[in-house]
Amino acid sequence: MQKNFCRSKTGAALMLAAGAAFASALLLPSAAMAQQKFVTIGTGGITGVYYAVGGAICRLVNKDRAKHGLRCSVESTGGSVYNVNTFKAGELDFGMAQSDVQYQGYKGTAPFKEAYADMRAVMSVHPEPFTLVARREANIKSFTDFKGKRLNVGNPGSGTRSAMEELLGAMNMKITDFSLASELKADEHGPALCDNKIDGFFYGVGHPSANIQDPTTACGAKLVPLTGPAIDELVKKSPYYAYATIPGGLYPGNPEPTKTYGVLATMVTSAKVPADTVYIITKAVFDNFDEFKKLHPAFANLDPKNMVHDGLSAPLHEGAARYYREKGWIK
Ligand code: GLU
Repeated sequence: MQKNFCRSKTGAALMLAAGAAFASALLLPSAAMAQQKFVTIGTGGITGVYYAVGGAICRLVNKDRAKHGLRCSVESTGGSVYNVNTFKAGELDFGMAQSDVQYQGYKGTAPFKEAYADMRAVMSVHPEPFTLVARREANIKSFTDFKGKRLNVGNPGSGTRSAMEELLGAMNMKITDFSLASELKADEHGPALCDNKIDGFFYGVGHPSANIQDPTTACGAKLVPLTGPAIDELVKKSPYYAYATIPGGLYPGNPEPTKTYGVLATMVTSAKVPADTVYIITKAVFDNFDEFKKLHPAFANLDPKNMVHDGLSAPLHEGAARYYREKGWIK
């Protein structure tokens, strides 16, 4: 027979206790909501890989937001240089940035005017080989073949653009060597190439990337190697550049590997962002690392032990360092 606890004193007390637990369960989410903190990661164009990295990180952070009260969102931006300038101004909490841009931002070399001592590194992510793409009909075999032709040099504020300036300097070339140096955003360069508005574009990005996939599929665009003495010199003298190869067969109509050079994608922030916030984000990525790796094919070969130092020239943020020490990945 079912007992009716309400008829006894203990039963009434139990009911009360259950009721109180129920009420406090109801109260909990709103209390957590009252303390909820919002963090935003600045990324790049929505067809690039930064946007996917930001999305993957936020997804893992938000999974546990009832526990830690942090709600993460991504913003599509003009890219690395914009992100650094914006979290410097306190308008973003985190930004994705090429490792060369992290170095330049911390040290205050071009494209930056002054050193940013409060810049902090969180982690590095996927490699970003500089990728030169040409119209099939343009018959382009090397970077210098673009002289007198229409090249998209990257939008101002992108890491792509600042790397282009460095490449032009190393090649002893000027932007006026192109018949057109367009500044389209990464989301626009593929369609512009297939519409014959440009002969090619330059882009620092992880692979595979949707906006390389599109023009190679839609109009047979070709990847062009970036090699030669000027690039050898650049790689030799710059601590943030390394040789890179885009695997053959990754994009339709491009069966051969493409030799080039590149950087690493990194996540950066300011020393002003609280250590607990950075710790929560770092922990969300590495506690769920198998899941993280599955969120984009460019993450397939990532190894946490490299991500805590490769490509990082600014000091680690103390919140990230705390997690890495717990893991024994740093001293
Ligand atoms: N590396 C690029 C830049 O900062 C962005 C790449 C991406 O969005 O994946 O210009």
